[in-house]
Amino acid sequence: MSFNIAIDGPAGAGKSTIAKLAAKELSFIYVDTGAMYRTIALGLLRAETDIEDAAALEKQLSDIEVTISYENGVQQVFLNGENVTGLIRTEQVSDMTSRSSAKPQVRAKLTELQRTLAKKEDVLMDGRDIGTMILPDAQLKIFLTASVKTRAERRYKEQIEKGESCTLEEIERDIKERDYRDSHRETAPLRQAEDAVLVDSSDMTIDEVVTEIVALARERMQTATCR
Ligand code: C5P
Repeated sequence: MSFNIAIDGPAGAGKSTIAKLAAKELSFIYVDTGAMYRTIALGLLRAETDIEDAAALEKQLSDIEVTISYENGVQQVFLNGENVTGLIRTEQVSDMTSRSSAKPQVRAKLTELQRTLAKKEDVLMDGRDIGTMILPDAQLKIFLTASVKTRAERRYKEQIEKGESCTLEEIERDIKERDYRDSHRETAPLRQAEDAVLVDSSDMTIDEVVTEIVALARERMQTATCR
């Protein structure tokens, strides 16, 4: 049986950076589900789909195929066969992702793909609803969070390094909006699973968080094999 680790948490808590490093250390496959939702959002943006029109959304979704593969251990996402990994991190795609991922039809499209991956391999999967909906039986669940201020400062630094112009206030407002949308939507809202370990990374370095998660995983793996 495969060993599954679910990491959920709000935007900017450092999930993907930490998940990637922890997966590498554990020799697990890292599955970034946010990238899959972003790929669908890019498809919807390109087709200029009105996502509030259920029929139009349904029709466009049937024309969108999301697949993933790994290149040197790094997840690549494909939209109808085109590698779009480098195109899905813009603010426009982030905004569309947060709105479209609230739609049950969009979530249903990715549920099967995510579960199938986890059944076959030892995965460390990050997202918003992995511990609560996608992999309720994951052997380890982490809810990774950090204060809004810390998350906004981290994202601000990233954007400035990328040469994008923005203010800390704008980023903080954007993070609060996304948090609200992700945790108040009807379908699969962001929330901590009852059996998840809460990790607050506000005052921790990336290495400290990775070490904690890897230690928890090794402990659980040992318990699983001792049974
Ligand atoms: O993790 P990332 O910031 O790339 O996710 C982008 C957006 O995708 C989130 O704000 C959220 O709306 C959505 N998402 C989701 N469920 C997941 C992963 C991401 O709804 N499992």
